[in-house]
Parts: sequence; structure tokens; C-alpha cells
Amino acid sequence: MASSLTTLSDEARIALETMAGRASGLFSPGLRLGVTGLSRAGKTVFISALVHNLIHGGRLPLFEAQKSGRIARAFLEEQPDDNVPRFQYEDHINALVDDRIWPDSTRAVSELRLTIEYESASAWNRMFSAGKLSVDIVDYPGEWLLDLPLLGKSFAEFSHDAREMALLPVRTDLSKDWLALAAATDPNADADEMTARRLAESFTAYLKACKLDERALSTLPPGRFLMPGDMEGSPALTFAPLPDLGDKRARSGSLQAMMERRYEAYKTHVVKPFFREHITRLDRQIVLIDAMQALNAGAGAVADLERALTEILACFRLGQGSFLTDFFARRIDRILIAATKADHLHHESHDRLQAIVRRLADRAIARASFSGADVDVVAMAAVRATREGTVKQGRETLPVIIGTPLSGEKIGNDRFDGKTETAIFPGDLPSDINSVFEDCRSDSSEDATIRFVRFRPPKLERTAEGLTLSLPHIRLDRALQFLMGDRLA
Ligand code: GDP
Repeated sequence: MASSLTTLSDEARIALETMAGRASGLFSPGLRLGVTGLSRAGKTVFISALVHNLIHGGRLPLFEAQKSGRIARAFLEEQPDDNVPRFQYEDHINALVDDRIWPDSTRAVSELRLTIEYESASAWNRMFSAGKLSVDIVDYPGEWLLDLPLLGKSFAEFSHDAREMALLPVRTDLSKDWLALAAATDPNADADEMTARRLAESFTAYLKACKLDERALSTLPPGRFLMPGDMEGSPALTFAPLPDLGDKRARSGSLQAMMERRYEAYKTHVVKPFFREHITRLDRQIVLIDAMQALNAGAGAVADLERALTEILACFRLGQGSFLTDFFARRIDRILIAATKADHLHHESHDRLQAIVRRLADRAIARASFSGADVDVVAMAAVRATREGTVKQGRETLPVIIGTPLSGEKIGNDRFDGKTETAIFPGDLPSDINSVFEDCRSDSSEDATIRFVRFRPPKLERTAEGLTLSLPHIRLDRALQFLMGDRLA
């Protein structure tokens, strides 16, 4: 009863807020763009580059409104939600442009309002529209999105699923300590804070180890265990899955009862408010994926990325049975799946990367029985850290990429100092993309077909007047066209 009451009030509140939003939207049309992806996928870099290119009139030939000169001005405005941290655009741009270091990554939700003044392409629209679009960019960790399935799961189901994932062959070496500790725990014993803490710490250590693993294992919930935001150490995060609970109801005062209560509190006080306040109001969504890292790590990691993408898309699927999901799934009409960091490949491989992402997305769409929004894919680099060239080796001319590898990066025995520009032959993606999915080579980067070195952000060109030009990119304009082009038509 209590939970249906909450649902009802959520429902009423969101409906009212949306009506209010739509009504005021008549006067100042807005677009809420969600930017997500697992940690290190490139969210911070993407948002910084998007805003920088629009504000500084970057080269965006595939973004129609910009190409045809209809954008008069783009500028940052105060964001509408006072209780949400602002996306620290200026700090991130300083890091990228002045210091040539990558900015601090997304650790929690943040927001930024970018307003675009434009002239509509159609005379009809010019008569009726203000020629002004406010884009509210909402940056949030994909880890938090992946908490959505928890809303439909009991504690027993959550425990069962967590154990199954931990027992997958790719994970057993990382999960064995936690599994052993859980197996030695009696759920029926008296509730005890220290036992709860030990279990939660061991479970969190296992989740973090998966995250750090070079096989690029994808993320498992609860999302706040990996990205706690401001909740580090709070009791709502001090729980863990327990051994097989059967159908037995928890005895009051037992460890099981304590863990169940905390799990439910996590759903009520952490997961639900996050969806209600941030996700239900989105109109468009970009999901960034680090396909390069997965390809570098082998077929096991690609399969894992596919699993993560399936779970992310399932969050945006209609007919989940959950009111919250149905609400935002109906509202979001376009989703872009974007593989960033294409600047690690020569352009000859960009189409292959895009084909691989297309295949990944198609498989994820099928597996998630996804329907509803239009889904498109792109292989891009929000910030292009390299340029291209050729190197002669004997009689062969090899395509290379040229950039400044980050200090400490290595190829073979060469270690880079972070100052020297270097030409690197990055290798090709296979022409038969099936091999990426079915490949049986060992999961070690030694055997990878591409050579992956992280580069420093690029040195920006300056005009004769000393103005820095906008950040270079690959296909960022294509992403912009899909995400907002129609709203500037
Ligand atoms: P977040 O956790 O999703 O916010 O990820 P970030 O945006 O902080 O990106 C993580 C790291 O990926 C950065 O520090 C860069 O090293 C790298 N990266 C992200 N985007 C790009 C890109 O477009 N090109 C290149 N070369 N590297 C990128």
C-alpha cells in the first residue's frame, strides 16, 4: 500500500511538472539533453567540446543550422534548477585548452543551460517561433542509470542476480573473496553492523575491481557503490547481496532483515528520486561508449560492453511495467549511441568503427526488445587529439596518427614523456567486423589489432589576432545534427 501511494504521488507530481513545463515551453522552447555513459566513456569531454564549438562557432559542416549561417549566437545562461550542481564548463575548458590536460570526469549529476539564438529556415516558423532554443544539458553517470532494474527487484532477486554475475567465468577471479565471505555468512544471524560493513566493503571492492579490470568488464549495480556522489559511507550504501535466501521470510532482527531494509531504503531514497528529478524530464539522450577500450581488450570485453548497452537501452524501453520508465521512455524520442575517441584510429578505420557500433547497437536493441525512440549511432571524437600523416617503411607507406602521448604511456619498451609529438601506426580494425564479436584470441592487449595509446589534448591553433579556435573534433557535428538539428529547423 505504502509503495502504491508513493507511486501515485510521483505520478501526479511528474504529470503536473510536465504540464507546467510544456506550458512555459510555449514561450521559451527548451530541450533537455541527457548525456550518459559508464565512467571514463567521455561525457565530460563531450559536453565541454559541444558547448565550446557552439559558443565559438566551430567548424560543424554536418550541423545544418551552423553550416547555413542561421545561428546568430550561442551562450551560457543560468540553469533552471538551483538544487543541481552546475557542469563546471569553464574549469574543464581551462584544463583542455590552457593546460592541455583532460578535465576531471563525471562523478555525479550536473547541469548546464546553453541558449541558441537562430533564424528558422522556414518563413512559417520564423513567424511563430522566437528563434531561441534553450538546451539543458544533464550529465549523469551511467552507473546510476543502471540502478533502474533494481526498482523491480526484491532483495532476494537482487542477491540471486548478483551471485550469478559473480560466478561468470570472466569474473570469478575478482569475486572469489566476496563470494567466500558471503557463503560463510548466516543471513538468519542477529543483525550486526560490523558484519554488514565487512560484506558491503568486500562486495564494493569486487565491483570496483571489475571496473578497473583491463578486460573492461562492464558495470554491475548498485551504481552508488561505484560512484557514491555525496553518499560515501552512508548506511543506505552499507548492504550487500546475501547467500541463497530461498523463500524464507527474514526473521525480525536478523542480518537478512537489516540488509533487506537497507536495500529498500536505497531504492526509495536514492534510486527513485534520481529518476524522478533528473531522468523523467529528458527529451533526448546520448549514450557514450568506450568501444576503443573494449576492442583493445578483446571479444570478452566487447560482449560485456554489449551487455551493458543492452541494460542501458532497456532503461529507455517502453512497457517496463514501471511507471517511472514508461513516463520517460515515452518522452525521449531520440537516442544516440556514440563511440568516442575515434581519433585513436586513422580515418580509414572510422567507418569500420561505426559499423561495429551499429552492430553492437542492433544486437543490444534486439536483446532489450527495445522500441520507442529513434536510435542512431556514430563513431566520433569529441576532441580530436591527433592528426594524420603517413610514414614510409621500406617500400610501404603506412597511415599514421600524430599526437603527444600522455606522460607514462608505453609502446613496447618506449615510454613517453608527455612532451614529445610522436607518429604512431594505430593498426586497422578488421574489415570483417564479425571477428570482433566472435574472436577467440586471448583477452590480452598484447594480441590486440589496434594499438591504443592515450594522447594529450591537442594544441589549439590561434588566429592572426591571437584568438584560439574551437576544439577540433571528428563528427561531433553529426551528433549535434541528430540530437538537436530538427529543433533549429
Ligand atoms: P566521463 O567519466 O564519462 O566524464 O569521461 P571523460 O569525459 O572524463 O573522459 C575520460 C577520458 O577519456 C579522458 O580523460 C580522456 O583521456 C579520454 N577521452 C574522452 N573523450 C575523448 C576524445 O574525444 N578523444 C580522446 N583522444 N580522448 C578522449
